[in-house]
Amino acid sequence: MPLRFYNTLTQQVQPFAPIDPDVVRMYTCGPTVYAFAHIGNFRTFVFYDLLRRVLRLNGYKLHHVMNITDVDDKIIRNAVAQGKSLSDYTDTYTKAFLDDCAILRLERPERIARATEHIVEMAAAISELEQQGHTYRSDGSVYFRISTFPGYGKLSHNDFGGMVAGARVDVDSYEKSDARDFALWKAPKPGEPSWDTEIGPGRPGWHIECSVMAIEFLGNTLDIHAGGVDLIFPHHENEIAQSEALTGKPFAHYWLHSEFLLVDGQKMSKSLGNFYTLRDLCQERGHSPESIRYLLASVPYRKGLNFTMDGLKSAATAIDRLRNFKLRLESAKLEAGLNERFATASAEARKAFREALDDDLNTAEALAAIFEFVREANTAMDNGDFLSQNRASALAVLQDFDSFFDVLTPTAPAGGLTEADIDGLIAERTAAKKARDFARADGVRAQLLEQGIILEDTKDGVRWKRK
Ligand SMILES: [Zn+2]
Repeated sequence: MPLRFYNTLTQQVQPFAPIDPDVVRMYTCGPTVYAFAHIGNFRTFVFYDLLRRVLRLNGYKLHHVMNITDVDDKIIRNAVAQGKSLSDYTDTYTKAFLDDCAILRLERPERIARATEHIVEMAAAISELEQQGHTYRSDGSVYFRISTFPGYGKLSHNDFGGMVAGARVDVDSYEKSDARDFALWKAPKPGEPSWDTEIGPGRPGWHIECSVMAIEFLGNTLDIHAGGVDLIFPHHENEIAQSEALTGKPFAHYWLHSEFLLVDGQKMSKSLGNFYTLRDLCQERGHSPESIRYLLASVPYRKGLNFTMDGLKSAATAIDRLRNFKLRLESAKLEAGLNERFATASAEARKAFREALDDDLNTAEALAAIFEFVREANTAMDNGDFLSQNRASALAVLQDFDSFFDVLTPTAPAGGLTEADIDGLIAERTAAKKARDFARADGVRAQLLEQGIILEDTKDGVRWKRK
């Protein structure tokens, strides 16, 4: 079965075929940098990463653009309140966001585009929409008249036919019941940042940012546009209206949306005390970035995810099982030969893993295939049925797993020992033992333990893991 995705636009699972057979042009909505991103935001960003990886597994090259919204209502409100310039205020959170993404091992999109660096292009697009009769002005702001775009509602599958023509909204975010003409360009207000452009002074609305940057870098029609479900309306609906009004071409062929994340079954909020950033979870509570990545990736993106501390612990246990299995595979002394049954089981596990991912990123089934294999292989090793020539194909199963889930290599603690350091010390200890210098050998073990590295002397040699 070919790679396929659920497309919000058609409400169907469809085989994926990009316009250019080799390259996927993809746009994903990035963060609004007014605060540290929280774990719900990261569910969406992990989803983008998994999407990238499954596309690459299918042999595609990627041209992926993600925006950074560094001007919007909330940013301006906060920056003004703190007496900071827009860029001083947003630089902190932009950097924090990119650091967090690296910690979670999220692949970097080919291009990250900051909204404030494309204001001229946004003004030009709005001017073009004005000339085509899709807009009107009021008090220095420019609004998109949605009645001029007959397809309005096609993504969110709403019939907006009964709307009051000419009613409008100024805020960037609003409810479906509030579908109105929306602001493309907002008139300057005293004390707020604004830009002087060909359409007058002011600043862009949120929606036009994404349309303009997507078309600028990826062309009139994208293969994939993705975001969280909360962006379907109004943001993506408005992106379609602006973009298709501008170009006369379909804006994106596939629209993919990831579901919400709840914490302990509730909507995350500061007042409930269940609002977590990556810093809260890693630095304050000591969870590993890999556990967080694993938990966010383990639930298929179109299912709601209930984030709990128990879930994080289970994720850590699952990762440990896989790491221990890998160590065992690498270090076990196996009897010579090939057990045909395990050659077949390895091939089947790899196939099932890939088929699950190609099925609209069914990560839960992909994981089930891996754990089933690990269970069988562990039992076979216990019984001596697992032979030396089965080692490579079993390691290949783990390699496939990790090229997608990317959790097997532990994150080195800041300033801690690297794997090369650890291997060097283990070699030193082995040499000391051989030379019967047991004091030195014990010293190395203690030194490693101090750094959180546990050594295990097994019949198959020395293994290590981080505490
Ligand atoms: Zn967007």
